[in-house]
Amino acid sequence: MMKPRNLEAARRFTERREREDQAPRLHAEVPALEVLALELSERRGEATQPETTHVRRIVVASAPAYFQTPCSDSNCIDGGHEYTATVMKALRDRQALFAGEHTCQGTVADHVCERVLRYVGSAKYAKA
Ligand SMILES: [Zn+2]
Repeated sequence: MMKPRNLEAARRFTERREREDQAPRLHAEVPALEVLALELSERRGEATQPETTHVRRIVVASAPAYFQTPCSDSNCIDGGHEYTATVMKALRDRQALFAGEHTCQGTVADHVCERVLRYVGSAKYAKA
């Protein structure tokens, strides 16, 4: 039998898949976009050094216009980072380099998670 936390994780995974499927495609929203990579680092709210950093290369031809990263704290309930709006604005503005942060609003034990995801995007566009 699955533990409730696994069920919760499975439910969130399914929800994310549905949102990705329903989102418009990235290439339809920003046709000039050719290359997109996101460097993602996450840290606890009070820490200054990121605990994890990884680069996510986006498959521009098929990716959804939906950007979400799960919270890396396995005890975090209803957490995660969604930063679609700010990334899409940067891409529509043809920014080659952009960055932002998102604070997790999930719950860990009895307090707000507050893990901070920092994303640095680098993008290339077709000449106008
Ligand atoms: Zn969290």
